[in-house]
Amino acid sequence: MEGILDSAPSGSLLPYGLGRSYGDSCLNADRELIDCRRLNRILGFDEATGMLRSESGVSFADIIDVFLPKGWFLPVTPGTQFVTVGGAIANDVHGKNHHCAGTFGAHVHQVGLHRSNDGLVVCSAEENPRLFRATIGGLGLTGVIAWADIQLRRVAGPWIDAELIPFRSLAHFLEFSRESDGRFEYTVAWLDCFAGKNPRGIFFRGNHSAETAKKFRPKRGPKLLFALPGWLLNRYSVKAFNEIYYRAHSVKRGSALVGYDSFFYPLDSIRQWNLLYGKPGFLQYQCVIPETNLDAFEELLDRIARSGMGSFLGVLKQFGSAPAAGMLSFPRPGLTLALDFAMRGEKTLQLMRSLDDVVLRSGGALYPAKDARMSAALFEASFPQWRSFVPCIDPKMSSSFWRRVTEAN
Ligand SMILES: Cc1cc2nc3c(=O)[nH]c(=O)nc-3n(C[C@H](O)[C@H](O)[C@H](O)COP(=O)(O)OP(=O)(O)OC[C@H]3O[C@@H](n4cnc5c(N)ncnc54)[C@H](O)[C@@H]3O)c2cc1C
Repeated sequence: MEGILDSAPSGSLLPYGLGRSYGDSCLNADRELIDCRRLNRILGFDEATGMLRSESGVSFADIIDVFLPKGWFLPVTPGTQFVTVGGAIANDVHGKNHHCAGTFGAHVHQVGLHRSNDGLVVCSAEENPRLFRATIGGLGLTGVIAWADIQLRRVAGPWIDAELIPFRSLAHFLEFSRESDGRFEYTVAWLDCFAGKNPRGIFFRGNHSAETAKKFRPKRGPKLLFALPGWLLNRYSVKAFNEIYYRAHSVKRGSALVGYDSFFYPLDSIRQWNLLYGKPGFLQYQCVIPETNLDAFEELLDRIARSGMGSFLGVLKQFGSAPAAGMLSFPRPGLTLALDFAMRGEKTLQLMRSLDDVVLRSGGALYPAKDARMSAALFEASFPQWRSFVPCIDPKMSSSFWRRVTEAN
């Protein structure tokens, strides 16, 4: 690694994991990426405490494969298991348990970081604490994470005791969310974004189950082999999908024992699901709006519904109040909404800019891991502390995202 870092010109490099970030935070146009997937060794594990030392290119899927059979699971996981440890730290990813566990970075005790100036630097809350906080959520800009110590959590097995409840308004959603916070480790909702200010949806909640006897077989779904024609996804087909999804799940209301894979990673079961959006692809939009500003959240939903461009994958979650683990961590108290928009050119970009206005006025933020287009002004408003992060950047590192959102500021 030292060789690569020594010989590269300033601002030319960026570490790369599994490329599961939706926008350009993992890209470095006209410059170089460092493929970290070969840093794929598990370096140590303490069976008594669950402390794992893993190289940064190890994926969450690998960790689950090795450690779930031994009764250990990830402390926090995003909606796909195909992310690397390095990528998860660099975006300080969150999961369905943010309200009780905070972000992934809160469970990282120590990292080994390759820096172009200083070689391998060990950082933790005690040692190089500033660099540690900058590296968690640091977008790959503070250096190449070589390895990390991660606290896994004990589980009985692969099963989740899940519950599914339909809701018909934002107030209803908030009521379920608050009522579930103390009793359920995982909460999240699917939202029909064609329903406007008074959204309907399905609230999912769950806990790791004590069930150990039932045999578990991971779900393997279909693989999309080619991009679907763009006309297949239009306001009528997506609206119809949402209607069917809502009705089908409303009927299933109640409790069930489900495998961790279908609970945490429903999209992973359709390989190459992104081809659903056809050749023009899609843009993802994930924002957080402070809870004190529910009017803004309703306005956001209204604008999406009126545009007729909503997606079938609307995800709504109430973040908890855990302090941010990293200097540039995205999660903060409030409601976070993540949506896919099929790319229809200027029309789509215009809608997203109008959503940005609402986020900006509400004092909210956009998530860099899901972004390909936020303005420098919105980045500044989302992460007002970004200038104090700058001294921690490794001089050899840069990214397309970072140049886009900071060079105009
Ligand atoms: C279906 C799906 C669901 C998702 N759900 C969620 C969710 O629920 N919550 C959430 O928070 N995110 C979610 N994401 C986003 C995803 O978790 C993040 O983008 C994650 O960071 C991707 O990890 P990666 O290994 O693919 O990293 P990449 O996308 O390759 O890189 C991400 C960042 O990490 C940096 N990086 C990578 N490796 C290293 C390293 N070794 N050292 C230093 N920096 C490094 C890169 O420079 C880049 O800045 C989802 C993505 C998908 C596709």
